[in-house]
Amino acid sequence: MLCATSEQDASTQLRIIESCTKNDRVKINSKKNEILLINKKSKELNLELFNEKISEKQTIKHLGIERQDRNTPNVVNRISTARATMYSLMGAGLHGINGVNPLISYKLWRTFVIPRMLYEGAAMKMKMADGSTAVLRRNRPGTKAEMWSKWSDIAYEEMDNTLAVQQYIQQAINKDVNDVEGILNQPDGVDEGVWKYEHLRQFCMELNGLSVKLQAECNPETCTQMTATEQWIFLCAAHKTPKECPAIDYTRHTLDGAACLLNSNKYFPSRVSIKESSVAKLGSVCRRVYRIFSHAYFHHRTLFDEYENETNLCKRFTIFVTKYNLMSKENLIVPILDDQELIEGESEA
Ligand SMILES: [Zn+2]
Ligand SMILES: [Zn+2]
Repeated sequence: MLCATSEQDASTQLRIIESCTKNDRVKINSKKNEILLINKKSKELNLELFNEKISEKQTIKHLGIERQDRNTPNVVNRISTARATMYSLMGAGLHGINGVNPLISYKLWRTFVIPRMLYEGAAMKMKMADGSTAVLRRNRPGTKAEMWSKWSDIAYEEMDNTLAVQQYIQQAINKDVNDVEGILNQPDGVDEGVWKYEHLRQFCMELNGLSVKLQAECNPETCTQMTATEQWIFLCAAHKTPKECPAIDYTRHTLDGAACLLNSNKYFPSRVSIKESSVAKLGSVCRRVYRIFSHAYFHHRTLFDEYENETNLCKRFTIFVTKYNLMSKENLIVPILDDQELIEGESEA
């Protein structure tokens, strides 16, 4: 390998090689040599060895390190190498809660995965602002509020992890919370069960935001029961025998219960494929958590409107359960859609 800082320098070194080979009576095949120009400034170089042009390359592998013309590490490649290393160790038990002891997992990870990921980085100056295609989804310390989670979008096909559907949904919400149809638009190749499951997870997470707001004014003394209209008092299903919890307790118990079910290893062991019998459980979760919307709407309207303006959550939920037939129309008592009252009117007639 020759290193040169200028064309003249390189040319001189090549002449030295030519002269040395003549003395030693060996020949170097100029076709087998390559040249890599680092930080090239659109200048045509014409370096020759034995009167033959040396071919120019964008990347050259030297001592196992892939050098690029910008002299920065290939971040995408490093990440995928690390991931491949991870996967190859899964057979040996480097996975989840039923794998090897976490301490051993950590040791394996530190010994095999990290070095392979950082290999090139040690030899080169780390720099991310090189226009590489890797999208790093990180909120670093010191991130400004307006830049929070503002990384560029990734297409669904390019999300290659087990949480891709959740990532895709959250990306759509981040992009435009008012584009309810867009958020609920199922991309090709997504299993419908997983799609429904991940959306419901997301709803429950965001409903926690509403329940935090509710805590400020919904207290057990004033809202002693979970009601919406005068018609029903909802019993809290979180207890051995369902009971009349105050509205705010009902809210907490129901969200906790939903989180328990949706994270249960028994019913939802995987987030890539979901059994039909488990998908069937989603309807009842929807029905229970919907009561949080209806209580907020009929009893804490200002608060409901505030939250709805920010998130469009109830609207999205209503369209979601209607689209996938998870709740019957009579139960959707919050008039959030333009054509919803019309539907109610029809069913009463
Ligand atoms: Zn209340
Ligand atoms: Zn309860």
